[in-house]
Amino acid sequence: GMKEMDLASIIRNIPDFPKAGIQFKDITTLLKNHDAFRQAVDSLYHLFKDQEVDIVVGIEARGFILGSVVAYLLDAGFVPVRKKGKLPAAVRSKTYDLEYGSATLEMHLDAIEKNQKVVIIDDLLATGGTVRAVCEMIEEAGGEIAGIAFLIELESLQGRKAIDKYQVYSLIKLD
Ligand code: 5GP
Repeated sequence: GMKEMDLASIIRNIPDFPKAGIQFKDITTLLKNHDAFRQAVDSLYHLFKDQEVDIVVGIEARGFILGSVVAYLLDAGFVPVRKKGKLPAAVRSKTYDLEYGSATLEMHLDAIEKNQKVVIIDDLLATGGTVRAVCEMIEEAGGEIAGIAFLIELESLQGRKAIDKYQVYSLIKLD
């Protein structure tokens, strides 16, 4: 088959974005490379292809890019989790703490049915606060979390601890 690319090598590091002291991992350099994009999506699909998956949840905004394609390959539906105020119909919401302040995420009330098997996809696991809030919303809706997958895991932040009761996967592990 095709030679595997080193995906980590085409993630771009942006110092001091969005604010001083943060080393932002920019995935646009991976997304624009057709071989890298295909390899990343195929790898995410392979994690779940032998399981029953009804719904892929993608987290705004970069989780949409990866999650929708993985949903298509799994023959699953796609559900967006969005920032407060973006979704048009009735929502459930979850507010969680950030380093400074808080953030609110929303999901349509009717997006997930009881006992549906759900996979969550996002681009990056940092502290785990975001994905944990998403897990809580899915379980409040009665969904069963079949697994969680990230393109990148920042291992030193130990975000896995926030979601240690689930199957968690990441394609690229960085400090
Ligand atoms: P957490 O809640 O785990 O601390 O942060 C993860 C969320 O913030 C994800 O939705 C992710 O998209 C975003 N995020 C935080 N830091 C970065 C980063 O360096 N690069 C990218 N691409 N996303 C980040």
